[in-house]
Amino acid sequence: ARSVGKNQERTLAIIKPDAIRSLGDIISAVYENGFTIARMRMVKLSQNEVMYFYSEHKTKEFFPRLCEFMTSGPVVAMELVGSDAVNRWRSMIGPTDTQRAREQGAHLLRARFGTDGTKNALHGSDSAESVQRELSFFFGSKYGVNTACYNDTTCC
Ligand code: ADP
Ligand code: MG
Repeated sequence: ARSVGKNQERTLAIIKPDAIRSLGDIISAVYENGFTIARMRMVKLSQNEVMYFYSEHKTKEFFPRLCEFMTSGPVVAMELVGSDAVNRWRSMIGPTDTQRAREQGAHLLRARFGTDGTKNALHGSDSAESVQRELSFFFGSKYGVNTACYNDTTCC
């Protein structure tokens, strides 16, 4: 087992509904790239939960498609631990659009497992602040998914 030393960082990864069938290959890639998985859980998110998680994008034209996609099946959230985890995981998955990821390299995880611009297989936190917010969303409360937005109509 690898020790979690001083230079280790955390990030929040999500295997999105289109890539759940490739769960095994994705977990293999995680470990092959020197990450460990500290926590992991599979959950089917509600519409409200997805709207809350992606609230930074609520005014974007693609927001309805994103919400429909992210509620279309279960997701797997993983807390990854490794060196330079935030940047390195985002480098491993590649650009947001699957086609652009394919142009950049067939080894990129979005190139391997993504479908299109919305169905892009994987999520990675984009900053230390996002890591904190997203880890507490999935793992912060007693039952995992943060229930703060269930009855909050302002978040959707
Ligand atoms: P990333 O996941 O690479 O950080 P964003 O935070 O910009 O990308 O967007 C969140 C998610 O919304 C993307 O992963 C993708 O599923 C979807 N998305 C982003 N931009 C578009 C777009 N232009 N068209 C369709 N879906 C998009
Ligand atoms: Mg993002």
